[in-house]
Amino acid sequence: MEKYKDIGLKLTPQRLAILDYLDGNKEHPSAEDIYKAVSKRFPTMSFATVYNTLETLRQKGGVLELTIDPAKKRFDPNTEPHHHLICVGCKKILDIHGSYRLPLPDEKREGFELIGNHIEFYGLCPKCKKGR
Ligand code: ZN
Ligand code: MN
Repeated sequence: MEKYKDIGLKLTPQRLAILDYLDGNKEHPSAEDIYKAVSKRFPTMSFATVYNTLETLRQKGGVLELTIDPAKKRFDPNTEPHHHLICVGCKKILDIHGSYRLPLPDEKREGFELIGNHIEFYGLCPKCKKGR
């Protein structure tokens, strides 16, 4: 929660509930997931409130938008560099910490100075593998 203090969002109770839901959340929820969870406490809250809060957070670097799932954007409150393990069956996304040395040859760098990478490992989780 600390990290959201400097983001400059006016903290209404609804927004606090959204931030509270995101804080430490490792599920990589979609806006719909967040809306579903938070509207239990705030039934009058609109989906637009969730969407706009996420968009502001994203712009200010408080949350990462993952484009891993083409069906819906997923959000990651963990903004530290890390990688992802993705189940193509149930769309579960797990974090992988640790750095991978992936050498990018000079001729493929297009003159870029590299500052990081993000690796997405795809597969079937044990549950989905069993269900096949
Ligand atoms: Zn799965
Ligand atoms: Mn993550």
